[in-house]
Formats: sequence, structure tokens, C-alpha cells
Amino acid sequence: MINAKVELRCGEVVFFEGDAPTTAFLIESGSVEISTTQADEVVVLGRLGPGDLLGEMAVIDASPRTATATAIADSVLVAIDQATIHERVENADPVVRALIRGQLKRYRTALAALRGEDADVDGAADATLAAEAAEGGGIDKIRLETQLKQALAERQLEVRFQPIEAIDARRVAGYEALIRWNHPERGAVSPAEFIKLAEETSLIVPVGRYVLEEVCATLAALGAADTECPYIAVNVSARQTEDDDFLEELVRIAGERRVPVGAVRLEITESLTLDVARVHRLITRCHARGVKVALDDFGTGYSNLGHLHKLRFDTVKLDQGFVRQMLSDARSHAIVRAIVTMVAALGAELVAEGVETEAQMAGLQHLGVRYGQGYLFGRPMAREELVASHA
Ligand code: C2E
Ligand code: CA
Ligand code: CA
Repeated sequence: MINAKVELRCGEVVFFEGDAPTTAFLIESGSVEISTTQADEVVVLGRLGPGDLLGEMAVIDASPRTATATAIADSVLVAIDQATIHERVENADPVVRALIRGQLKRYRTALAALRGEDADVDGAADATLAAEAAEGGGIDKIRLETQLKQALAERQLEVRFQPIEAIDARRVAGYEALIRWNHPERGAVSPAEFIKLAEETSLIVPVGRYVLEEVCATLAALGAADTECPYIAVNVSARQTEDDDFLEELVRIAGERRVPVGAVRLEITESLTLDVARVHRLITRCHARGVKVALDDFGTGYSNLGHLHKLRFDTVKLDQGFVRQMLSDARSHAIVRAIVTMVAALGAELVAEGVETEAQMAGLQHLGVRYGQGYLFGRPMAREELVASHA
């Protein structure tokens, strides 16, 4: 029974206090009174009208109805079944889920206190909340999010720079900026963990700005006005590509540091949610400013040849998975060979990621790959170390 209509005459009861919850209701028309019986006396808790939800609390935490609902006018309700509500709650963002359950628990406690009952009666909501916390869902995320905000304010975030090598010349062509969070209790938190969290909230905007500031400051320290200066590539998340001000912000920050904006490059990872039209606009605007854009992690996840066709990336970064396998697996080797040809035909540069051994480098060089990044060439390093290496 999904979204069935229920018609009630004035005086008819929707549900009784103590009933098992099977459905929530949306009031389309009419009016419903919520009441409870205390010491044999009926106490009216409130009246609901069109647009109001009714009986959803008991459905969410699967506890008996705590009040009786009676139509006080001819009314039409839309019944929303338990499974539909549970599905919505379970699919919600874990933080939102934790917030709903937290509110519900507080409401139940207040209601119990009002009745002079023990506040601990609410076993069902408690159990779900405990389960939520144990699974490290919402609560943990809220904690981490608050700490990330603080980390940003206290500059606990650090940007490191990993060289991108021109393989034939054995010299550094550029660097990739990689963010680190030096967490006081957890130690170094991987960007893979907190960038996703930052993306789910608006925190990615100040985090992204922080990275741009660090990158431009580093380019200034390197003397980026010099044409021989290496570039620095910045990771841009899908959420940031939706921000029309992102590029203007980069132009402004580069201007403040007096570095040519073209010394900064952008890396965009493919994802299911990538809005091709938006990224296309961003790339066009970047090109007008002389900023090059790379397609990151090519060959994994959602690799889509349509994207390569529609979007004029200047660089394609071959995911490290291929580099790891290409010497032991003929099929991987064949795929890398095909990607090299395709990327060259599109007039883009190819950077192989995750190069760890001389043998991998030789294999890539043999296939005509000109740029590599990985521990063989250097690990991500602090700004001081980077600047010293160019002194
Ligand atoms: P990514 O863009 O693919 O960055 C490359 C990752 O591979 C980095 O991990 C780097 O440390 C690691 N790596 C480099 N060389 C090697 C190697 O030879 N072997 C192996 N096994 N790994 C290597 P990291 O720093 O943990 O970053 C993880 C991801 O977090 C990045 O993947 C990127 O998607 C994201 N990220 C990092 N910094 C930022 C940032 O400032 N903004 C955004 N939006 N995302 C970021
Ligand atoms: Ca990257
Ligand atoms: Ca990558």
C-alpha cells in the first residue's frame, strides 16, 4: 500500500494511542486532532491541517503510537506506508539520519517526562541511535566535520607537492598539490577520507581556497614569473566545478601573489555525477585564461570515452592501477598502449601515475609515455623542501 488515499468522516479515529505504527499520513484536506489520555482525562496535544504530516514519528522509530488521532472535520489523508518511510530514512545522508533520530529521542524523552514516566522507556530509539553511532555513521561524521572546520581555522591542513617528471629529460615538469590533515588524535587523515566529507558539506569551498592559496604562495616562492618554472596541478572536486566563482577566485589569488595563473593547472576526476555541460564551460573559461585542465584517474571507475570526446582536456592522467599491472598482465599492457595512442591522437599530454620502479618507467617510456608521477620520482614533499630543491 503506497500513498493510498483515506477518507474520514468527522469524528472517525485515524489511530489509537498504543496502536502499532504501520503508516504515516499526509493531510490533504480537513483537520485532525491529536490527543492523549492522562488520568482518565483527554488532553488535546494539537490540531493538524492540510500539508501536515501525521504519525510519522512512531513509524520512524517503530514504537507504539503515543497519542490518538481523530478527524474533527471530514478529511482526506494520504497514507505513506512504513517501508516507504524507512527506505527514505535509510537512504538519507547519515548525518541527516542521525539528526532525525536525535530529535526523535529528545521528543520521546520530553513526552515521557510530561507524563511523569521514566525517560528511559524509549528503548527503540535508543537502540537505533546506539547502532548508528557504533556503525560510525552520522555522529562520527558530525564530529569529524566540526574538527575539520577547526583544522582549517588552525591551519592544521598542509599541502604537499609531488613531482611530475618529464621521463626522457629526467627533470621535473610540474608538481601535484596533495592535501594532508595532521589530526592531533588520529594522526595523518587521508584526503580520500576527509575530502569526501568536505564535498558533502560546503566545507570543500574553504578547503579548496586554502589549497589555492598555498599553491600560489609556493609558486611565488619558486619565482613563477620565470618561464622555466614548473607548474602546480590542483585537484578540483566535482562539487567545486559547480561553483562558478572557482576560476575567478584562482585568478584573484594568483594576482595577489603576482604569479601567472597559467602556472596553476587543474585536475578533475571523472565521476557519475560529473555535469559534462558545466565542466565543458569551466574548461572553456580556463582555456581563455591560459589554465590547463587534466582528466584525473583515467581508466578507473566511470571512465567514459564520451567525456574525452566532449571535453577538451589538455592532459590525461593514467590511473596507477594500470601502471601496477602492465608488466605482469598482457591485457593491461595492451590497454595502456591503446590509451597512449588515443591520447596522442587527441593532442593531449599523458601522465602515468603511481610509477614506483625503474622497470615500470622503462615500460612506459617504451610505449611512448612522456610524463610520470610516483614514488620513483619523489614522494609528496613540504613546501620548504620543494623550494630548496629549486634553489
Ligand atoms: P590523486 O589525485 O589520484 O592523487 C594521487 C595519489 O596517489 C596521492 O594520494 C599520492 O600520494 C598517491 N601516490 C603518488 N605516487 C604514488 C606511488 O608511486 N604509489 C602509490 N601507491 N601511491 C602514490 P593522496 O595524497 O592520499 O591523495 C588521495 C586523493 O585525494 C587524491 O588522488 C585526490 O583525489 C584527493 N585529493 C588530494 N588532495 C586534494 C585536494 O587538495 N583537493 C581535492 N579536491 N582532492 C584532493
Ligand atoms: Ca590528482
Ligand atoms: Ca590520480
